[in-house]
Amino acid sequence: MRARTRPELRAAAPAEFGRLSADEQERFLVHGERLMTNTRWEGARDVAVTDAMIHTIAAHAALLTAGFDTATYPYLNVRTVIVHARTIVTRGAQPGPARGVMTSGPQYLAGQSGHGRGPVLLDWQTAARQVADPDRGVNVIYHEFAHKLDQLDGAADGMPPLPTSDDETAWIQTLGTNYRRLRRRGTDGLVRGYGATNPAEYFAVTSELFFTRPVELRERHPRVYRRLADFYRQDPARRR
Ligand SMILES: [Zn+2]
Repeated sequence: MRARTRPELRAAAPAEFGRLSADEQERFLVHGERLMTNTRWEGARDVAVTDAMIHTIAAHAALLTAGFDTATYPYLNVRTVIVHARTIVTRGAQPGPARGVMTSGPQYLAGQSGHGRGPVLLDWQTAARQVADPDRGVNVIYHEFAHKLDQLDGAADGMPPLPTSDDETAWIQTLGTNYRRLRRRGTDGLVRGYGATNPAEYFAVTSELFFTRPVELRERHPRVYRRLADFYRQDPARRR
């Protein structure tokens, strides 16, 4: 029987956990525990999934949900997490860098979020390295679980479910404008170029920054920061 308890979740939590309010910590732990118990944890090929891997992945995914009411479970579409030892190679036709374009060559990935209730794939080597170096602003666990939140309304379009149509309009205006600007410029010194792949990647990449380098994201892209803060119901820049 795996140990899936709060002390382990706390021990594996990112430093940000210590900055959360008591309410946020409680929601973090509730959602994290649910993720640990509701998910099938599988290893790819030669990987034996350890408790430490499960705790680390769940504790980082839980940070994204620390603002969400515990009356509902936000990761309803996460059924299976498959841990790979290193870079994931996928083959077959997949959506390419532009809308409507498919690519068929091998793809080298640190993670992937299957559509619908498809599995989350994570390259443990990359995840562990990024977890150990949070200030770099890159974290494949935040990235893939942000995709899962985006997909809760059925579409991987870079806009997660929002309370009102006004919120949706503001989201499309703000993130759309900044996404297109990144597409024109390639990189902006903070948001990495991968975010220009499509709106879903823009949301996932800016979500990584929101939880790792929130003060810089707020400075450079205050409107994007505000939209993400509204959605996640957290203000990590103010916690710093
Ligand atoms: Zn992605």
